Amino acid sequence: MTRGPSALPSDAPDEHPAPADAVRSDPAAPGARVDSKPPGARTETLRGIAGSPGVAIGAAVVMGGHRTNHPRRRVVSSEITAEIERFEAAVERAQDELRDMAKRIGDHRAEASILEAYLLMLGDEALADAVKRQVTEERRCAEWAVAAACEAIAGRFAALDDPYLRERSHDVLFVGERLLRAFSLPPQEPPSSRDTSPLSTRSLIELQNSIAMPATFGAALPRFSGPTILIAHDLSPADTAAMVDEPVVGFVTEVGTRTSHTSIMARALEIPAVVGVSDVLQRVITGDLVVIDGLRGTVVVRPGPAELADARARAERYVALGKELSESRHRAAQSKDGVKVSLRANVELPAEAILARDQGADGIGLYRTEFLYIDRTSPPSEDQQFEIFRAVVEALRPKPVTLRTFDIGGDKFVSTFQVPPEMNPMLGLRAVRLALSRPDVFLEHLRAMVRASAYGDVRIMIPMVAGLGELRQVRALLHRAQEQVRARGQACADEIPLGVMIEVPSAAVMVDHFAREAAFLSLGTNDLIQYALAVDRTSRSLAYLASPFDPSILRLITKVIQAGQDFGRPVSLCGAMASDPLAALLLLGLGLRDFSMEAAAIPEIKETLRRITVAEAEAVAAEALACATAEEVECCVAAAFAPDLYDLLTGERATR
Ligand code: PEP
Ligand code: MG
Repeated sequence: MTRGPSALPSDAPDEHPAPADAVRSDPAAPGARVDSKPPGARTETLRGIAGSPGVAIGAAVVMGGHRTNHPRRRVVSSEITAEIERFEAAVERAQDELRDMAKRIGDHRAEASILEAYLLMLGDEALADAVKRQVTEERRCAEWAVAAACEAIAGRFAALDDPYLRERSHDVLFVGERLLRAFSLPPQEPPSSRDTSPLSTRSLIELQNSIAMPATFGAALPRFSGPTILIAHDLSPADTAAMVDEPVVGFVTEVGTRTSHTSIMARALEIPAVVGVSDVLQRVITGDLVVIDGLRGTVVVRPGPAELADARARAERYVALGKELSESRHRAAQSKDGVKVSLRANVELPAEAILARDQGADGIGLYRTEFLYIDRTSPPSEDQQFEIFRAVVEALRPKPVTLRTFDIGGDKFVSTFQVPPEMNPMLGLRAVRLALSRPDVFLEHLRAMVRASAYGDVRIMIPMVAGLGELRQVRALLHRAQEQVRARGQACADEIPLGVMIEVPSAAVMVDHFAREAAFLSLGTNDLIQYALAVDRTSRSLAYLASPFDPSILRLITKVIQAGQDFGRPVSLCGAMASDPLAALLLLGLGLRDFSMEAAAIPEIKETLRRITVAEAEAVAAEALACATAEEVECCVAAAFAPDLYDLLTGERATR
């Protein structure tokens, strides 16, 4: 077994040099050929959840590879020696495999030097010692010991200050994966009988991706060429945002739902996406031709000529429909009988402000300011935040911009605040709770918003408010921020409306009190559904329970709309429900007149609302409120409206 000096961080990381410099090279993942269909490979259709509409055809790039399921068995003392021998044999097999690959890569120097670095890591004393400790002291079987040791070493890398060294934690995990797979490899054949022909493009791409791509790759997104469909277990919002300049035409994830942040980002960027596709990493290989349909929630792997022709036709129809809708996007938003409705945009990235304006949005109803905290270990400065807020406000002027104070925690950007891990992060130190626990950081954030108010119509909204005390504390901090800004002689608006999101059931129950004290209310149905129905919004397997049509949700929404009317406070809704045509009509019938959604959905919802009168929507809403289950509501709404929305719901030509 090859043994090298330790390159891995131990408990005292400073004593060890960085891993071989070769790992620093940044292999670009070349795009896979779009016409690749391995001979004999069968077409497969996988089903998931429609995350972002549109039809895309491209070559798969599988990110993160297959996580190996390894045994977790306690061993008795008489088994220790045998387990250590199994570990050493696995290391040898993994090293042989890498050497074999290096030989086949031949001239591709960057890749070969990366393989050398991995070879060194596999033979590292620190790794061997850590694994042996796991076996002898923790009495874990060899596979479990490898996984635990690699995670611990990767964790130590991840905690280092140097960003380059931090990234190396992914390399350690990759090496661990290879090692775990090696336990189930057959013993190596003698070299003479092995296939030493050059690797195919497909396997090179796969190799490069598995090297370059950790499960969540953030800033390490490779460069692609050609229409690419990313296939991953999950993509963080930062990963998704990094796709803006890439030829990524769609993506598929194993986890996620329509309201998880990956889907929200995909819709914002207008990239078709199918999420929650079980086992997709096992079914697709990098280089496979893939068709994804973000309207139907399907993924066709290795399509045949018929499936391809159908997908191309659907893609064309979808684009044509989008063009038609877009041509009428500046018409007034109103129902068939002329009742005016306000359609504003949800934005995550500053560049979307322009898109929002171009799509005819009546302003920004939700700016998710937490996206300023992507991939950072410290918050952006007040000035940096101010410049961005000002640019967004100026782009929309004179229309209003609702800046939501950062909603960090749950599934979003905790790295900036180094929040300790929690058992239930969605129920933990998230959003306003986190903000109030860090008043210094929160005041900077508020001051940046206050300063932006000098440049247009700014409103401030607080996420995840559960009790009135939180609104009052934020108001006090906002007043202090205003005083501080004025004391510096900087300009700001005299009055900045302060509203709350109604997304925690307690706030919906107490909404009359909130309506008395808040300037406006905005229903965050993504979280309201999660918290009211006790269904994790990112859970693919429970997504069927998280229905916006659930009568309990409709009753909460009705209560909030009613409180807004009673106290003369505007009520908006900015959850994903607003951009679902059937749900939007139901909301119209429940009395909602102010919607906020991803900018790309505005033309479609405008068209939806134009096809139905308020009286028709009210009749269906009354019927829906009397239903006992989400299925009954959905049937009732679909029976009433689907025939009028056929083209919008299916992306097919209308048969009306
Ligand atoms: C919501 O919860 O509905 C919402 C709009 O906020 P977010 O999706 O950012 O949590
Ligand atoms: Mg929310």
